[in-house]
Amino acid sequence: MHASGKTREQAATALEQLTRLLRAQAWHGDAGRPMPPVQAGVLKLLADARHGMRAARMAEQLGITPASLSDTLKTMEAHGWIERSPDPRDGRARLLRLSWKGHAQAALKRQPGQGALGLLQVLEQADLAALLRCTQLLVGEAQRQGLATGLRTCVGCKFFRPFASGDAARPHLCGFTGQPFGDLELRADCAEHERAEPWDFAANRERFRQRIPHPAE
Ligand code: SF4
Repeated sequence: MHASGKTREQAATALEQLTRLLRAQAWHGDAGRPMPPVQAGVLKLLADARHGMRAARMAEQLGITPASLSDTLKTMEAHGWIERSPDPRDGRARLLRLSWKGHAQAALKRQPGQGALGLLQVLEQADLAALLRCTQLLVGEAQRQGLATGLRTCVGCKFFRPFASGDAARPHLCGFTGQPFGDLELRADCAEHERAEPWDFAANRERFRQRIPHPAE
């Protein structure tokens, strides 16, 4: 059954309300002020990047321009959360890493009571799986519309094989791990992600959206 325009409007309102609420309740860093989402994104990316990351790559993964990221990085350096060092693969380039102070901030942010994590505690597994599925679909659509690039979601990854395992409980396959997995294990940000070619991305998005099972072999 197709959802009516009114239903979609209500869903859009709910999503916008939630975004506003999370912004307003944004997690507070040690500066005692709400942390802007881009700063929180940089903390998370660098906490996962053991060997550091260049600013251009970070901007791509955050879906913003290097120029908009630049001010955020200056602020975070002023807080003493990040450090720059030469990239051993190219002496002219600089790598960014978290300082010990930055790691402490990132650890605080992972505490269950913080931000969106605090709200998600109320969801049961089936609801969490539905949320992760919807997030993949919405991020996929944002990428199709050219609103985002560089996000490391399963839909959009060259290793993602939706509904290809033949196992109803764990219907997808990850070509990187070789393992089947279900919606509950969909990754919104995966370090092993590699970008799919545009035609594979489009086919996977549609297959995932329509829940097309793999034909029996
Ligand atoms: S490598 Fe990561 S993003 Fe890609 S399909 Fe596997 S789990 Fe998903």
